[in-house]
Amino acid sequence: MRLHVPVFQMAAALLLMASCAAPSARHSTGRDEWGHRPGPKGFRTVILDAGHGGHDPGAVSRHTGQAEKDLTLDMAKRIRSELGTDFRTILMRSDDSFIDLDDRVMRANRDGDAILVSIHFNSGPSHIRGPETYYWRVDSHGLAVRMQRAMTHASPAESGNRGLVRRRLRLTRNPQIPCVLIECGYLSHPAESRLCASPDYRHKLASSIAGVIRTQAASGDAGTGPLPRPIYAPPSRPTDKPE
Ligand SMILES: [Zn+2]
Repeated sequence: MRLHVPVFQMAAALLLMASCAAPSARHSTGRDEWGHRPGPKGFRTVILDAGHGGHDPGAVSRHTGQAEKDLTLDMAKRIRSELGTDFRTILMRSDDSFIDLDDRVMRANRDGDAILVSIHFNSGPSHIRGPETYYWRVDSHGLAVRMQRAMTHASPAESGNRGLVRRRLRLTRNPQIPCVLIECGYLSHPAESRLCASPDYRHKLASSIAGVIRTQAASGDAGTGPLPRPIYAPPSRPTDKPE
């Protein structure tokens, strides 16, 4: 019998089963409340969540005047077109409308065999630049590692940013599918905000992100390092203190 599951994935799954008091399904597709399992492979649906929208502009660059909500929507559409017909791609919003975070989570939970990528641009002290990736679920770690690697590779410079971060946010903890939140760059950094204003650069980023999604679907977590420890923490609420 040929084994279709790479040995390391089986080892990771066994390790997870041994270390969790209540192991969840061994399959890495389908809905799962905790996500204490290896990352997804072979998924067909990609939900692209353009952050902010409508009355919520997100960050606004004082260097270019661009609003985060417009850039995130542009990125979502670019990633969709890069993915072509190989995946069923769903845009959380396809126009300048506002969707509450909890409604975004509910929408994401409609699809089982899917991943969610929430797209943002950052703001902070003016010397900080470079992409960041946030995840919380164990099954989102590989995807997050790949996203951060690919965006860092596409980015010409970095300074003082947080890189890859495990953080319990409403869009990293609450969806019942693998999910990551990416910050494509700092709109508060003069040079990076001009870079993000360039359609060529956004094309390059979108193409890297689409490449990550393809690789994750084809290879699962292969080459993304050991899985993080499971954390039993409640869903994220708007009233939570920042972690
Ligand atoms: Zn944002």
